[in-house]
Amino acid sequence: MSDQEAQVALVTGGSRGIGRAVATRLARDGFDVALCYRSDDSAAELVEKEIAAAGRRVLTRRLDVGDRTAVRAFVADTESELGPVSAVVTSAGITRDRPLALMSDDEWDSVLSTNLDGTYNVLRSVVRSMIRRRAGTVVTLSSVAGVVGNAGQTNYSASKAGIIGLTQALAKEFGRYGVRANAVAPGFIDTEMVAGVPEKQLKEALSRIPLARFGTPGEVAALVSYLVSPQAEYITGQVFRIDGGMAL
Ligand code: NAD
Repeated sequence: MSDQEAQVALVTGGSRGIGRAVATRLARDGFDVALCYRSDDSAAELVEKEIAAAGRRVLTRRLDVGDRTAVRAFVADTESELGPVSAVVTSAGITRDRPLALMSDDEWDSVLSTNLDGTYNVLRSVVRSMIRRRAGTVVTLSSVAGVVGNAGQTNYSASKAGIIGLTQALAKEFGRYGVRANAVAPGFIDTEMVAGVPEKQLKEALSRIPLARFGTPGEVAALVSYLVSPQAEYITGQVFRIDGGMAL
């Protein structure tokens, strides 16, 4: 892609794990990238450097995706500094696992606020400009927990199922404007999020994966790269499981 053709991607949760792999992959694909993250400035700086090394422009912002005002400002700054957003990937997400009978209100609220409200806040801020330009693609990060549910993760499963509904409704609302929306639903991907899962649970999960390993952030980024590309122009409203066959 030449400089004149450079497009802008906005990636939430871009400092780590899947979001980081997506941000750097899209930079290598030729996108200028705006990314936001929650807390780790030095991790974000490394991503910033990697994107700059790919010859692309980058804007980073530390914020909480649950904070509507901050998200709106981030999207506005992205559009004024980098240009109109043509691809959005919402990867910011958290887990606060606990059986429902023991769950605190805060564990419920924080997961729904980050995962579901955060996705809404970003998409609400960005889609009008996509409609006006009759162009744009959205990829949301759901989870197999949002497709089949996961014991001990009622808050997370609800948020990830909500993201699927949001994405499918968006595909129906905006298809006629040429705006596409798809969800990616990973199983176990080797990131810091999974590093927090107890060893016994990880072993048990591994035994249920036909491909007998966890996925890599790069493998998820490759799927996202395809979904935002012109090669996927006739694909919208779909949920793509990337889980080594775990949820069959
Ligand atoms: P991670 O914990 O490694 O990274 C999460 C990223 O989100 C970080 O950059 C963090 O700064 C950001 N973030 C978290 N809360 C935020 C907030 N309130 N505001 C702004 N940024 C925030 O996670 P990951 O494993 O890379 O997961 C990325 C996405 O993929 C998440 O939505 C997760 O639910 C989903 N997912 C992950 C897996 C997996 O196995 N890793 C499986 C299924 C779905």
